[in-house]
Amino acid sequence: MSNLKILFLDIYKNESFRINKDVNGGFGTGNNYVGGLFTKLLAKYQKESIFWPPIYFASTMGVAESFKHDCKYTTNLEDANNNFDIFILSSSIVACETEIKAIRILKDLRVPILVIGPFASTCPEKYIKNGANVLIGEPDTALLTNPKILNELKTEGDVIHPSNIPASIEDLPLPSWAEIFKHKKCVMGFLGSGNSLPIYASRGCPYSCFNYCTYPLQQGRNLRNESIKRLVDQIEFYIRDLKVKSFLFRDPVFTINRKRVIDICKEIIRRKIKIVWGAELHLKDVDYELASIMSKAGLRIVFVGIESINPESIKKTKRQNAPIDKQLSSIKILERNGISVKAMFIFGFPGDNLNNALKTIKYALRLPITYLQFSVFTPYPGTPIFSEYKNKITAKNYEQYTQWDLVFNHENLNNFDIKYLLNKSYKDFYSSLLRLLKIFYRITKIEMRKKFGLF
Ligand code: SF4
Repeated sequence: MSNLKILFLDIYKNESFRINKDVNGGFGTGNNYVGGLFTKLLAKYQKESIFWPPIYFASTMGVAESFKHDCKYTTNLEDANNNFDIFILSSSIVACETEIKAIRILKDLRVPILVIGPFASTCPEKYIKNGANVLIGEPDTALLTNPKILNELKTEGDVIHPSNIPASIEDLPLPSWAEIFKHKKCVMGFLGSGNSLPIYASRGCPYSCFNYCTYPLQQGRNLRNESIKRLVDQIEFYIRDLKVKSFLFRDPVFTINRKRVIDICKEIIRRKIKIVWGAELHLKDVDYELASIMSKAGLRIVFVGIESINPESIKKTKRQNAPIDKQLSSIKILERNGISVKAMFIFGFPGDNLNNALKTIKYALRLPITYLQFSVFTPYPGTPIFSEYKNKITAKNYEQYTQWDLVFNHENLNNFDIKYLLNKSYKDFYSSLLRLLKIFYRITKIEMRKKFGLF
């Protein structure tokens, strides 16, 4: 197998808001808060303070490097030339038209093009008909067990179904963040200053809300764990070699196995690693003991999906939310332990209407949380719920699937309602001086922990 020169192209649409291809199960989102001046300012702040590429991209580059291929990362299409043997592109719903435009330009260089990631796996034909090859499935584990894929690529578009069972995530080499850092820094303003990295302790999500969620399309519904030793070794390695100051666990539900979470935290504490980290978890999993040990190990922000307080919407989307009193008690426990809670809600679920949405805003404003997010329900291709919506889609192209645009004919809400609700929810929450002071205080404490090991 000959060594190849590979350019990893992570192409983004040039917008005034932040595009993230890693979140939303690798389909990506665009923080286009379509409302008024206040939401525009928030979108601008996020664009400047948060960036990281998709983990699957960094991990696939790590696999290619482990086979001694010479890999370069870029977000700039102008870095492509025919000195490379292969171009590998990340895919996303939120920048797919931009990716396809890039493929049309790259075709003239007569170099094989491979597109990877959950969106290309779900809608491969869009890329193939423009001349790219698409690797179906989880690209890093697929490439690890099928390394010949790269040597056999052709210049005309094709779909590649890897022949073997994907490798375990334990067998993967580390993602190639060192190469990425040469071109682009990863930053997460909500975890303070300095380099940040996304990381997995596990992949896969078995919950029933896969009905509308894209995560299981990317990672499957079986839980696969990284060993605790290897995980914490990785954290130490990135702190030492890449000067990383904070981590964001990108597991779909970090607290899915309580004992394992406690063991991870104990290992971080035992090794005296003064890191700061964030994670997504379920409020039903939270108790005082768990919150306390996670805080001691450096957890400073959690993302919790509440989505809606309308029981009909929750039932129709097959979500299993914690009861209202448990939501409140868990949020209080987390915040008392110095862990900022970002509660995430969705407008436009099936059965939602203006009245319900306003009640959900009222409920969110009463919660003792630090951050709040409202987005817009989006039926994604590949999810089971998409079949109910495919004849109601109004979006002209997939790049409108930012998660802040209404892309279908909703039974009760229109674009005007959505714009009004988004602007109202963000303005009512973030225009409070007390809340802004609390955010400032929390970020200051994070910086003190990073600089002096305090808190
Ligand atoms: S818990 Fe539900 S919404 Fe969250 S990642 Fe799993 S399937 Fe998706």
